[in-house]
Amino acid sequence: MSEPTDRPIDDATRVVSAGRRKEWTGGVVNPPVWRASTILYDSVAELRGRLSDTHHKWFYGRRGTPTQWSLADALTELEPGAEGTFLYCSGVAALAAALLSVLSPGDELLLVDSAYDPTRSLATGLLKRMGITTRFYDPLIGAGIADLIGDKTRAILMESPGSLTFEVQDVPAIVAAAKARGVTTLLDNTWATPLLFPAIAHGVDLTVLACTKYVVGHSDVMLGSVTAAPGHFARLRDTSFQLGQVASPDDCWLAARGLRTMAMRLKQHEASALKIARWLKRQPQVARVLHPALPDCPGHDVFVRDFNGSSGLFSFVLNGGSDAARSALIDGLDLFGIGYSWGGFESLALPVDPQRYRSVTERDDAGPMVRLQIGLEDTDDLIADLAAGLARFAATPT
Ligand SMILES: *Cc1c(COP(=O)(O)O)cnc(C)c1O
Repeated sequence: MSEPTDRPIDDATRVVSAGRRKEWTGGVVNPPVWRASTILYDSVAELRGRLSDTHHKWFYGRRGTPTQWSLADALTELEPGAEGTFLYCSGVAALAAALLSVLSPGDELLLVDSAYDPTRSLATGLLKRMGITTRFYDPLIGAGIADLIGDKTRAILMESPGSLTFEVQDVPAIVAAAKARGVTTLLDNTWATPLLFPAIAHGVDLTVLACTKYVVGHSDVMLGSVTAAPGHFARLRDTSFQLGQVASPDDCWLAARGLRTMAMRLKQHEASALKIARWLKRQPQVARVLHPALPDCPGHDVFVRDFNGSSGLFSFVLNGGSDAARSALIDGLDLFGIGYSWGGFESLALPVDPQRYRSVTERDDAGPMVRLQIGLEDTDDLIADLAAGLARFAATPT
């Protein structure tokens, strides 16, 4: 027997063990797929007895089975200080349920201007129709958010780093201002995951992951999660039950498989993306690299202060050049796929035009922008592919 120790368990160890309860798995290592709608009871008395106690208990398929409970508990374990996690059929569904668990007609939401575009659509579409107003704020606002909090402000939704442009927000400063006014804070933490930014420990009330990205890690499942700080879980769960939200057990099983290697994958994504970002920074065709770990990126000082590391997604701004030249760069890449999403094992390149999705922040970029997801391929192979792409960019007449 080893001596008891206060040494904290490393993330790599935690992702391997999290959520694996013997009562749910039997002797097998991975929780199996429990598919269910009807769950049978031995008696009327037992059926009635379950009505009042339904958390992680056999009840009805919509309330989940050990396949979902195990993954939800694993995600809770990865967030120090969290109370519980609810799973959804996509990251956007998770964002919608989290917001609906907090907001009512007449309320105001403060939403970061660099939010994922579908998050903006949710705010300006469904939420607006329900009488919930949204004010966008500058991702670099920090403690200045206090000036925007009014009597109707009920929630602040952050995303750090921001989608496409990667501004790192001062989450602790925004959380402090929100707490002083009784406002609920939400964070889309998909880029960092709890391993690189433990959101609940930084004071966030509800933290959202598009598990589709790094948790799943293999580009073959849509899934989302919301993890709640103490005092916020019951309302999230009740709202999610009322909305009829249930994540498929098959998808949760695949996501749990992905989770076991997430810490190791993130380390490789980090190392490869940093190497490529630094290489891009030295190329004459590149004006700017927007990677939170590089000084060019707005909020880099906050990143250094608050994050445990970086992941594999970043953007770069080309030095002048046309849309056609950018397309020539991307279209000819051999190792980078052209497609949405990210977080899988394969590299992706995407033309991005963030100015289309900003309300209160101006952009003054030197040229068109490209977003890269760096996968698990060899970095020298990826760099050779990008070097040929930059040469095509430079050779395209403007
Ligand atoms: C992809 C993404 C989402 C949405 O996740 P889906 O599973 O695709 O619905 C939410 N937030 C961010 C930052 C994302 O990149």
